[in-house]
Amino acid sequence: MTAPFRRLLAVLRRSDVLSGTGPPIPDDGGPDDDRRGPAPLTSRSTLRELGAAVPGMAEELVNRARAAGLLVGWVAVIAVPAWTVVDRIAVPHLAATFLAVRLLGDVPMLLAMWALWRLPLGRRRPEALTFLILAIVQVEIAWMIPQTQGDPYFLLGFTLAVYGSGCILVSRPGWTGAVVGVSWGALGISVLLHPGRLAAEDVVAVSVYLGTASIIGVLAHLRRYALNNRELLTRVRLEREQQRTGILLTQLERLSHEDPLTGLANRRRWDAELVSACTEARQRNTVVGVVLLDIDHFKRINDRHGHPGGDEALRQVAGLLSRRVRAGDLVARLGGDELAVLMPGADLDRAVELAERLRCEAVDLVPPGFDAGEINLSLGVASAGGAEAYPLELMSRADQQLYCAKITRNAVGAPRRDAIPLPR
Ligand code: GH3
Ligand code: MG
Repeated sequence: MTAPFRRLLAVLRRSDVLSGTGPPIPDDGGPDDDRRGPAPLTSRSTLRELGAAVPGMAEELVNRARAAGLLVGWVAVIAVPAWTVVDRIAVPHLAATFLAVRLLGDVPMLLAMWALWRLPLGRRRPEALTFLILAIVQVEIAWMIPQTQGDPYFLLGFTLAVYGSGCILVSRPGWTGAVVGVSWGALGISVLLHPGRLAAEDVVAVSVYLGTASIIGVLAHLRRYALNNRELLTRVRLEREQQRTGILLTQLERLSHEDPLTGLANRRRWDAELVSACTEARQRNTVVGVVLLDIDHFKRINDRHGHPGGDEALRQVAGLLSRRVRAGDLVARLGGDELAVLMPGADLDRAVELAERLRCEAVDLVPPGFDAGEINLSLGVASAGGAEAYPLELMSRADQQLYCAKITRNAVGAPRRDAIPLPR
Protein backbone atom coordinates (compact mmCIF):
# COMPACT_ATOMS: atom_id res chain seq x y z
CA MET A 1 0.00 0.00 0.00
CA THR A 2 1.41 3.39 -0.92
CA ALA A 3 2.23 5.87 1.82
CA PRO A 4 -0.36 8.54 0.85
CA PHE A 5 -3.08 5.91 0.66
CA ARG A 6 -2.09 4.52 4.08
CA ARG A 7 -2.17 8.05 5.47
CA LEU A 8 -5.61 8.63 3.99
CA LEU A 9 -6.88 5.42 5.58
CA ALA A 10 -5.33 6.37 8.91
CA VAL A 11 -7.11 9.72 8.90
CA LEU A 12 -10.41 8.10 7.99
CA ARG A 13 -10.03 5.49 10.73
CA ARG A 14 -9.14 7.91 13.50
CA SER A 15 -11.18 7.66 16.68
CA ASP A 16 -14.05 10.03 16.94
CA VAL A 17 -12.77 13.38 17.89
CA LEU A 18 -15.16 14.74 20.39
CA SER A 19 -17.15 11.84 21.67
CA GLY A 20 -14.52 9.11 21.90
CA THR A 21 -13.48 7.63 25.21
CA GLY A 22 -9.81 6.79 24.67
CA PRO A 23 -7.18 7.70 27.25
CA PRO A 24 -6.23 11.38 27.41
CA ILE A 25 -2.76 12.39 26.32
CA PRO A 26 -0.91 13.47 29.48
CA ASP A 27 1.27 16.21 28.13
CA ASP A 28 2.98 17.47 25.06
CA GLY A 29 6.02 19.49 25.88
CA GLY A 30 6.67 20.65 22.36
CA PRO A 31 8.53 19.15 19.46
CA ASP A 32 11.82 18.68 21.26
CA ASP A 33 10.43 17.19 24.43
CA ASP A 34 10.85 13.42 24.53
CA ARG A 35 10.45 12.91 28.27
CA ARG A 36 6.69 12.72 28.27
CA GLY A 37 5.94 9.15 27.37
CA PRO A 38 4.80 7.38 24.27
CA ALA A 39 2.10 9.65 22.90
CA PRO A 40 3.31 13.22 22.37
CA LEU A 41 0.86 15.46 20.58
CA THR A 42 1.55 15.96 16.90
CA SER A 43 -0.29 17.48 13.98
CA ARG A 44 -1.76 14.03 13.43
CA SER A 45 -3.30 13.83 16.90
CA THR A 46 -7.07 13.81 16.96
CA LEU A 47 -9.09 16.81 18.06
CA ARG A 48 -10.05 14.88 21.17
CA GLU A 49 -6.41 14.33 22.11
CA LEU A 50 -5.65 17.98 21.48
CA GLY A 51 -8.78 19.05 23.33
CA ALA A 52 -7.76 17.02 26.39
CA ALA A 53 -4.38 18.73 26.48
CA VAL A 54 -5.57 22.18 27.57
CA PRO A 55 -8.24 22.82 30.21
CA GLY A 56 -11.40 24.16 28.61
CA MET A 57 -10.41 23.29 25.06
CA ALA A 58 -12.42 20.04 24.87
CA GLU A 59 -15.49 22.02 25.89
CA GLU A 60 -14.73 24.63 23.27
CA LEU A 61 -14.36 21.97 20.56
CA VAL A 62 -17.66 20.38 21.53
CA ASN A 63 -19.34 23.78 21.36
CA ARG A 64 -17.74 24.43 18.00
CA ALA A 65 -19.13 21.13 16.67
CA ARG A 66 -22.56 21.92 18.11
CA ALA A 67 -22.55 25.38 16.55
CA ALA A 68 -21.57 23.90 13.17
CA GLY A 69 -24.35 21.32 13.47
CA LEU A 70 -26.90 24.01 14.32
CA LEU A 71 -25.74 26.08 11.35
CA VAL A 72 -26.16 23.11 9.00
CA GLY A 73 -29.54 22.48 10.62
CA TRP A 74 -30.81 26.05 10.12
CA VAL A 75 -29.73 26.03 6.48
CA ALA A 76 -31.39 22.64 5.93
CA VAL A 77 -34.73 23.32 7.66
CA ILE A 78 -35.11 26.61 5.75
CA ALA A 79 -33.59 25.64 2.38
CA VAL A 80 -35.37 22.29 1.96
CA PRO A 81 -38.94 23.71 2.16
CA ALA A 82 -37.79 26.79 0.21
CA TRP A 83 -37.11 24.46 -2.72
CA THR A 84 -40.88 24.38 -3.16
CA VAL A 85 -40.25 27.32 -5.49
CA VAL A 86 -38.29 24.94 -7.77
CA ASP A 87 -40.99 22.25 -7.37
CA ARG A 88 -43.65 24.69 -8.61
CA ILE A 89 -41.61 25.53 -11.72
CA ALA A 90 -40.17 22.11 -12.54
CA VAL A 91 -42.81 19.64 -11.32
CA PRO A 92 -45.99 21.60 -10.44
CA HIS A 93 -48.09 18.40 -10.22
CA LEU A 94 -45.78 17.08 -7.47
CA ALA A 95 -45.27 20.38 -5.61
CA ALA A 96 -47.90 19.71 -2.90
CA THR A 97 -46.62 16.16 -2.19
CA PHE A 98 -43.02 17.33 -2.14
CA LEU A 99 -43.87 20.21 0.21
CA ALA A 100 -45.49 17.73 2.60
CA VAL A 101 -42.38 15.51 2.45
CA ARG A 102 -40.09 18.50 2.88
CA LEU A 103 -42.00 19.71 5.95
CA LEU A 104 -42.14 16.18 7.34
CA GLY A 105 -38.36 15.93 6.95
CA ASP A 106 -37.96 19.17 8.91
CA VAL A 107 -39.43 17.53 12.02
CA PRO A 108 -36.53 15.10 12.76
CA MET A 109 -34.10 17.81 11.67
CA LEU A 110 -35.58 20.23 14.22
CA LEU A 111 -35.44 17.49 16.86
CA ALA A 112 -31.76 16.92 16.08
CA MET A 113 -31.18 20.68 16.36
CA TRP A 114 -33.02 20.75 19.69
CA ALA A 115 -30.76 17.95 20.91
CA LEU A 116 -27.69 19.84 19.69
CA TRP A 117 -28.83 22.99 21.45
CA ARG A 118 -30.23 21.67 24.68
CA LEU A 119 -29.68 17.98 25.42
CA PRO A 120 -26.65 16.12 26.83
CA LEU A 121 -26.81 13.98 23.68
CA GLY A 122 -25.94 17.11 21.71
CA ARG A 123 -22.74 17.44 23.76
CA ARG A 124 -21.87 13.78 23.48
CA ARG A 125 -22.67 13.23 19.79
CA PRO A 126 -22.66 16.54 17.90
CA GLU A 127 -21.20 14.94 14.76
CA ALA A 128 -23.77 12.14 14.68
CA LEU A 129 -26.64 14.64 14.98
CA THR A 130 -25.15 16.85 12.25
CA PHE A 131 -24.76 13.77 10.07
CA LEU A 132 -28.41 12.88 10.73
CA ILE A 133 -29.57 16.28 9.46
CA LEU A 134 -27.54 15.95 6.24
CA ALA A 135 -28.62 12.33 5.74
CA ILE A 136 -32.29 13.35 5.99
CA VAL A 137 -31.76 15.94 3.24
CA GLN A 138 -30.10 13.37 1.00
CA VAL A 139 -32.75 10.70 1.57
CA GLU A 140 -35.50 13.22 0.79
CA ILE A 141 -33.90 14.32 -2.49
CA ALA A 142 -32.99 10.75 -3.45
CA TRP A 143 -36.65 9.87 -3.04
CA MET A 144 -37.70 12.83 -5.19
CA ILE A 145 -35.32 12.20 -8.12
CA PRO A 146 -37.17 9.18 -9.59
CA GLN A 147 -40.53 10.96 -9.05
CA THR A 148 -39.32 13.82 -11.23
CA GLN A 149 -38.05 11.44 -13.94
CA GLY A 150 -34.51 12.72 -13.42
CA ASP A 151 -35.18 16.46 -13.51
CA PRO A 152 -31.75 18.20 -13.61
CA TYR A 153 -32.75 20.64 -10.85
CA PHE A 154 -33.09 17.72 -8.47
CA LEU A 155 -30.00 15.93 -9.73
CA LEU A 156 -27.99 19.05 -8.96
CA GLY A 157 -29.65 19.61 -5.62
CA PHE A 158 -28.66 16.11 -4.58
CA THR A 159 -24.98 17.01 -4.62
CA LEU A 160 -25.33 20.11 -2.45
CA ALA A 161 -25.54 18.36 0.89
CA VAL A 162 -22.25 16.57 0.22
CA TYR A 163 -20.50 19.86 -0.40
CA GLY A 164 -22.17 21.19 2.75
CA SER A 165 -20.78 18.37 4.85
CA GLY A 166 -17.26 18.85 3.48
CA CYS A 167 -17.32 22.51 4.44
CA ILE A 168 -19.09 22.47 7.75
CA LEU A 169 -18.54 19.21 9.66
CA VAL A 170 -15.99 19.98 12.33
CA SER A 171 -15.00 16.46 13.29
CA ARG A 172 -13.13 13.70 11.51
CA PRO A 173 -13.43 13.30 7.74
CA GLY A 174 -15.09 9.92 8.23
CA TRP A 175 -18.34 11.80 8.76
CA THR A 176 -18.15 13.26 5.27
CA GLY A 177 -17.45 9.71 4.11
CA ALA A 178 -20.65 8.67 5.91
CA VAL A 179 -22.68 11.42 4.20
CA VAL A 180 -21.25 10.33 0.85
CA GLY A 181 -22.10 6.69 1.64
CA VAL A 182 -25.67 7.55 2.67
CA SER A 183 -26.09 9.62 -0.53
CA TRP A 184 -24.98 6.80 -2.80
CA GLY A 185 -27.03 4.29 -0.82
CA ALA A 186 -30.19 6.40 -0.87
CA LEU A 187 -29.81 7.10 -4.58
CA GLY A 188 -29.20 3.43 -5.40
CA ILE A 189 -32.16 2.20 -3.36
CA SER A 190 -34.40 4.89 -4.80
CA VAL A 191 -33.45 4.04 -8.39
CA LEU A 192 -33.86 0.32 -7.75
CA LEU A 193 -37.27 0.84 -6.13
CA HIS A 194 -38.50 2.81 -9.14
CA PRO A 195 -37.20 0.90 -12.14
CA GLY A 196 -37.63 2.65 -15.45
CA ARG A 197 -38.46 6.04 -13.98
CA LEU A 198 -34.92 7.29 -14.53
CA ALA A 199 -33.30 7.15 -17.97
CA ALA A 200 -29.81 5.61 -18.15
CA GLU A 201 -28.26 8.95 -19.12
CA ASP A 202 -29.87 10.56 -16.05
CA VAL A 203 -28.43 7.87 -13.79
CA VAL A 204 -25.04 8.49 -15.35
CA ALA A 205 -25.46 12.27 -14.95
CA VAL A 206 -26.43 12.09 -11.27
CA SER A 207 -23.63 9.57 -10.63
CA VAL A 208 -21.10 11.93 -12.18
CA TYR A 209 -22.44 14.87 -10.16
CA LEU A 210 -22.44 12.84 -6.97
CA GLY A 211 -19.06 11.27 -7.70
CA THR A 212 -17.51 14.71 -8.22
CA ALA A 213 -19.18 16.07 -5.11
CA SER A 214 -18.04 13.03 -3.11
CA ILE A 215 -14.41 13.43 -4.12
CA ILE A 216 -14.41 17.19 -3.54
CA GLY A 217 -16.26 16.82 -0.24
CA VAL A 218 -13.92 14.14 1.17
CA LEU A 219 -10.71 15.79 -0.06
CA ALA A 220 -11.80 19.22 1.20
CA HIS A 221 -12.66 17.72 4.55
CA LEU A 222 -9.34 15.86 4.79
CA ARG A 223 -7.43 19.04 4.01
CA ARG A 224 -9.44 21.15 6.40
CA TYR A 225 -9.10 18.54 9.12
CA ALA A 226 -5.31 18.50 8.77
CA LEU A 227 -5.11 22.31 8.82
CA ASN A 228 -7.48 22.50 11.74
CA ASN A 229 -5.37 20.04 13.73
CA ARG A 230 -2.18 21.91 12.98
CA GLU A 231 -3.77 25.16 14.11
CA LEU A 232 -5.04 23.54 17.30
CA LEU A 233 -1.66 22.01 18.01
CA THR A 234 -0.06 25.43 17.74
CA ARG A 235 -2.67 26.75 20.12
CA VAL A 236 -2.10 23.91 22.58
CA ARG A 237 1.64 24.62 22.56
CA LEU A 238 1.08 28.33 22.96
CA GLU A 239 -1.30 27.88 25.86
CA ARG A 240 1.11 25.47 27.55
CA GLU A 241 3.90 27.93 27.07
CA GLN A 242 1.75 30.61 28.67
CA GLN A 243 0.91 28.31 31.57
CA ARG A 244 4.58 27.54 32.10
CA THR A 245 5.51 31.20 31.92
CA GLY A 246 2.78 32.01 34.43
CA ILE A 247 4.04 29.34 36.86
CA LEU A 248 7.62 30.52 36.45
CA LEU A 249 6.62 34.13 37.06
CA THR A 250 4.76 33.15 40.22
CA GLN A 251 7.76 31.16 41.43
CA LEU A 252 10.08 34.01 40.58
CA GLU A 253 7.87 36.47 42.40
CA ARG A 254 7.81 34.19 45.46
CA LEU A 255 11.56 33.58 45.37
CA SER A 256 12.30 37.27 45.10
CA HIS A 257 10.45 37.83 48.39
CA GLU A 258 11.40 34.73 50.31
CA ASP A 259 14.39 33.66 52.32
CA PRO A 260 15.33 30.21 50.99
CA LEU A 261 16.68 28.82 54.28
CA THR A 262 13.76 29.64 56.57
CA GLY A 263 10.91 30.30 54.13
CA LEU A 264 10.37 33.66 55.88
CA ALA A 265 10.05 36.96 54.06
CA ASN A 266 13.42 38.30 53.00
CA ARG A 267 14.92 41.75 53.40
CA ARG A 268 13.40 43.00 50.14
CA ARG A 269 9.89 42.14 51.24
CA TRP A 270 10.53 43.43 54.75
CA ASP A 271 11.59 46.84 53.44
CA ALA A 272 8.52 47.14 51.21
CA GLU A 273 6.10 46.03 53.93
CA LEU A 274 7.70 48.30 56.53
CA VAL A 275 7.29 51.31 54.25
CA SER A 276 3.65 50.55 53.57
CA ALA A 277 2.90 49.81 57.27
CA CYS A 278 4.44 53.15 58.28
CA THR A 279 2.59 54.99 55.51
CA GLU A 280 -0.67 53.47 56.65
CA ALA A 281 0.07 54.33 60.31
CA ARG A 282 0.69 57.96 59.33
CA GLN A 283 -2.37 58.19 57.09
CA ARG A 284 -4.77 56.52 59.53
CA ASN A 285 -3.08 57.76 62.70
CA THR A 286 -2.51 54.22 63.97
CA VAL A 287 0.54 52.55 65.48
CA VAL A 288 3.09 50.09 64.15
CA GLY A 289 5.46 47.93 66.20
CA VAL A 290 8.76 46.30 65.31
CA VAL A 291 10.65 43.52 67.11
CA LEU A 292 14.24 42.92 65.95
CA LEU A 293 15.97 39.83 67.22
CA ASP A 294 19.39 38.27 66.97
CA ILE A 295 20.49 34.81 68.10
CA ASP A 296 23.04 34.97 70.89
CA HIS A 297 26.48 33.52 70.25
CA PHE A 298 25.43 32.15 66.93
CA LYS A 299 29.02 31.87 65.80
CA ARG A 300 29.59 29.56 68.73
CA ILE A 301 26.57 27.48 67.71
CA ASN A 302 28.01 27.19 64.22
CA ASP A 303 31.39 26.25 65.61
CA ARG A 304 29.91 23.58 67.84
CA HIS A 305 27.24 22.09 65.54
CA GLY A 306 28.61 22.99 62.17
CA HIS A 307 26.81 25.08 59.58
CA PRO A 308 23.96 22.56 59.14
CA GLY A 309 23.35 22.69 62.90
CA GLY A 310 23.32 26.49 62.78
CA ASP A 311 20.90 26.35 59.87
CA GLU A 312 18.58 24.08 61.83
CA ALA A 313 18.68 26.46 64.79
CA LEU A 314 17.76 29.32 62.45
CA ARG A 315 14.88 27.30 61.04
CA GLN A 316 13.57 26.48 64.50
CA VAL A 317 13.70 30.09 65.62
CA ALA A 318 11.91 31.06 62.39
CA GLY A 319 9.26 28.41 63.09
CA LEU A 320 8.76 29.73 66.62
CA LEU A 321 8.26 33.26 65.32
CA SER A 322 5.83 32.15 62.64
CA ARG A 323 3.77 30.23 65.19
CA ARG A 324 3.61 33.07 67.69
CA VAL A 325 2.80 36.13 65.58
CA ARG A 326 -0.75 37.19 64.80
CA ALA A 327 -2.35 37.14 61.38
CA GLY A 328 -1.32 40.35 59.63
CA ASP A 329 2.11 40.46 61.27
CA LEU A 330 5.14 39.82 59.10
CA VAL A 331 8.16 37.71 60.07
CA ALA A 332 11.33 38.23 58.07
CA ARG A 333 14.95 37.19 58.06
CA LEU A 334 16.93 40.36 57.57
CA GLY A 335 20.24 38.55 57.16
CA GLY A 336 22.58 36.19 59.06
CA ASP A 337 21.03 35.39 62.43
CA GLU A 338 18.95 38.56 62.53
CA LEU A 339 15.18 38.21 62.26
CA ALA A 340 12.34 40.69 62.70
CA VAL A 341 8.61 40.93 63.27
CA LEU A 342 6.54 43.76 61.82
CA MET A 343 3.36 44.35 63.77
CA PRO A 344 0.95 46.78 62.12
CA GLY A 345 -1.47 48.18 64.71
CA ALA A 346 0.65 46.97 67.66
CA ASP A 347 1.60 49.42 70.39
CA LEU A 348 4.71 49.14 72.49
CA ASP A 349 3.06 46.95 75.15
CA ARG A 350 1.99 44.35 72.64
CA ALA A 351 5.37 44.34 70.90
CA VAL A 352 7.18 43.94 74.25
CA GLU A 353 4.79 41.18 75.23
CA LEU A 354 5.57 39.27 72.05
CA ALA A 355 9.30 39.85 72.41
CA GLU A 356 9.25 38.51 75.99
CA ARG A 357 7.30 35.48 74.94
CA LEU A 358 9.72 34.76 72.11
CA ARG A 359 12.70 35.15 74.39
CA CYS A 360 11.25 32.72 76.94
CA GLU A 361 10.16 30.12 74.42
CA ALA A 362 13.40 30.20 72.39
CA VAL A 363 15.15 28.66 75.41
CA ASP A 364 13.00 25.57 74.94
CA LEU A 365 14.11 25.08 71.35
CA VAL A 366 16.40 22.07 71.29
CA PRO A 367 17.40 20.98 67.78
CA PRO A 368 18.97 17.50 67.50
CA GLY A 369 22.38 17.46 69.19
CA PHE A 370 21.76 20.76 71.03
CA ASP A 371 21.64 21.23 74.79
CA ALA A 372 18.55 22.66 76.47
CA GLY A 373 18.83 26.43 76.77
CA GLU A 374 21.55 26.67 74.14
CA ILE A 375 19.46 28.91 71.91
CA ASN A 376 18.93 32.36 73.35
CA LEU A 377 17.60 35.47 71.77
CA SER A 378 18.28 39.15 72.26
CA LEU A 379 15.44 41.35 71.11
CA GLY A 380 14.91 45.05 70.53
CA VAL A 381 11.46 46.59 70.44
CA ALA A 382 10.16 49.85 69.03
CA SER A 383 6.77 51.25 68.22
CA ALA A 384 5.65 54.46 66.53
CA GLY A 385 2.31 56.02 65.82
CA GLY A 386 0.77 58.61 63.49
CA ALA A 387 3.16 61.27 62.25
CA GLU A 388 6.09 59.56 64.03
CA ALA A 389 5.88 56.37 61.96
CA TYR A 390 8.87 56.39 59.62
CA PRO A 391 10.70 53.19 58.61
CA LEU A 392 14.29 54.32 59.14
CA GLU A 393 13.58 55.88 62.50
CA LEU A 394 11.58 52.89 63.68
CA MET A 395 14.32 50.47 62.65
CA SER A 396 17.01 52.57 64.17
CA ARG A 397 15.16 52.71 67.50
CA ALA A 398 14.56 48.94 67.48
CA ASP A 399 18.24 48.43 66.61
CA GLN A 400 19.31 50.60 69.54
CA GLN A 401 17.14 48.52 71.85
CA LEU A 402 18.63 45.33 70.44
CA TYR A 403 22.06 46.76 71.06
CA CYS A 404 21.07 47.40 74.69
CA ALA A 405 19.74 43.83 75.02
CA LYS A 406 23.03 42.47 73.71
CA ILE A 407 24.78 43.92 76.78
CA THR A 408 23.39 41.09 78.87
CA ARG A 409 22.07 38.87 76.03
CA ASN A 410 18.96 36.70 76.41
CA ALA A 411 17.09 39.95 77.04
CA VAL A 412 14.44 42.26 75.61
CA GLY A 413 15.40 45.89 75.06
CA ALA A 414 12.47 48.30 75.05
CA PRO A 415 12.15 52.06 75.58
CA ARG A 416 10.69 53.26 78.85
CA ARG A 417 6.99 54.10 78.50
CA ASP A 418 7.68 57.79 79.12
CA ALA A 419 10.75 57.95 76.92
CA ILE A 420 10.72 60.62 74.24
CA PRO A 421 11.21 59.26 70.72
CA LEU A 422 14.42 60.27 69.05
CA PRO A 423 14.13 63.30 66.77
CA ARG A 424 13.89 62.56 63.10
P1 GH3 B 1 26.05 37.84 69.22
O1 GH3 B 1 25.59 37.14 70.41
O2 GH3 B 1 26.77 39.12 69.55
O3 GH3 B 1 25.02 38.02 68.20
O4 GH3 B 1 27.15 36.89 68.59
P2 GH3 B 1 27.04 36.06 67.29
O5 GH3 B 1 28.05 34.98 67.38
O6 GH3 B 1 25.66 35.60 67.06
O7 GH3 B 1 27.47 37.10 66.25
P3 GH3 B 1 26.73 37.51 64.95
O8 GH3 B 1 25.31 37.70 65.21
O9 GH3 B 1 27.47 38.67 64.35
O10 GH3 B 1 27.02 36.23 64.09
C1 GH3 B 1 26.31 35.94 62.97
C2 GH3 B 1 26.87 34.63 62.46
O11 GH3 B 1 25.88 33.97 61.73
C3 GH3 B 1 28.03 34.83 61.52
C4 GH3 B 1 27.81 33.82 60.42
O12 GH3 B 1 28.81 32.86 60.37
C5 GH3 B 1 26.54 33.14 60.80
N1 GH3 B 1 25.62 32.98 59.70
C6 GH3 B 1 25.18 33.94 58.86
N2 GH3 B 1 24.33 33.40 57.97
C7 GH3 B 1 24.21 32.07 58.28
C8 GH3 B 1 23.48 30.97 57.73
O13 GH3 B 1 22.72 31.11 56.78
N3 GH3 B 1 23.63 29.76 58.33
C9 GH3 B 1 24.47 29.59 59.39
N4 GH3 B 1 24.56 28.38 59.93
N5 GH3 B 1 25.18 30.60 59.90
C10 GH3 B 1 25.06 31.81 59.36
MG1 MG C 1 24.01 36.86 66.84
